[in-house]
Amino acid sequence: MLTQVAEGVLVHRSELLRNITVVVLGADGALLVDPGLTGDEFACLADDLAVLGAPVVAGFATHPDWDHVLWDVVLGSAPRYGTDRCAAAMREFLSDRDWQTRAAEALPPEIAGEVPLDLFGRITALPAGTERIPWGGPVVRIIEHPGHAPGHAALLIEECGVLVAGDMLSDVFVPMLDDDRGDNDAVADHLVGLDRLEAVAGAVDVVVPGHGSVGRADEVRARIALDRAYVHALRDGVVPDDPRIGPSVEPGWEWVNDIHAGQVQRLR
Ligand SMILES: [Zn+2]
Repeated sequence: MLTQVAEGVLVHRSELLRNITVVVLGADGALLVDPGLTGDEFACLADDLAVLGAPVVAGFATHPDWDHVLWDVVLGSAPRYGTDRCAAAMREFLSDRDWQTRAAEALPPEIAGEVPLDLFGRITALPAGTERIPWGGPVVRIIEHPGHAPGHAALLIEECGVLVAGDMLSDVFVPMLDDDRGDNDAVADHLVGLDRLEAVAGAVDVVVPGHGSVGRADEVRARIALDRAYVHALRDGVVPDDPRIGPSVEPGWEWVNDIHAGQVQRLR
C-alpha cells in the first residue's frame, strides 16, 4: 500500500526491516527509490503504480547494500541509477561467480525464499559529481556523502521538501558505520555525512529514512543531532543515551543492541 507523504511523493513500507520505498511521480511515470525486499511487495507496488497510471521510468539505489539494490521483473526495465561508487561496489560484488550464494546468505531467514535475486544489484552508474537524477519528473538532487556504505547518497526533492535519507537518520537503527573503512575513518566519515545532511536541513519538511518511520518538520534536525550524539559516544567510548538501544527498545528490535555492541567491539 502506498501512502502519500508530500505532493507527488508516496512511500511503501516493508514489515520485516521497516524498509521504506519511495515513489516520486513525474509527468511520464514514477521514480522508484530502494524498491523493497520480497516478490509480494514488488507485485503490490507494481499494482499500485498501475492504478496510478505511473510506469517506473527510473530507479535509484541509495547505496550498495542488499536491501537497497533489489528489483523484480514486474517493475519493468527502467535504468536503476546509483552513484558511481555505489555502482562500482555492485559490479565488484556481481563479478564473483558465487555472488548469488553470497547474496542469498545475506538475507534474513524469515524472508529468504521470497526475495527475487535475478535482477539483484544491476545499478547504472551516474558519473561522479552528477547533481540530479536524469529523469523527466521534479528535480531530485543527489547528495552523495561518506558514511554507512561506499557511494551512499541521500536525495532531496526540492519542490516538496522531502529528504530521502537512505540508511541515515533512522528512528529504529543506530548509525551503522561503514565496515569497510578503518575505524577512525569510519567515525570521521559518518560525521561528515551528517554534516552534509545538516547543510540541506533548512530545505527539508519531511525526512524519509531507509528503515523506520517518516519524520516531519523539525524532526530532521533532531535525528541528525541524535545520530551525531551516538557517533560521538562510540568515538569517545561512552554509553550512548539513545532510545534505539538499551533494555527498553521496542519488542522485536532487541537485535539493534547487537549492532551497537559489534560497533563498540570494532572501535576498541
Ligand atoms: Zn538498509
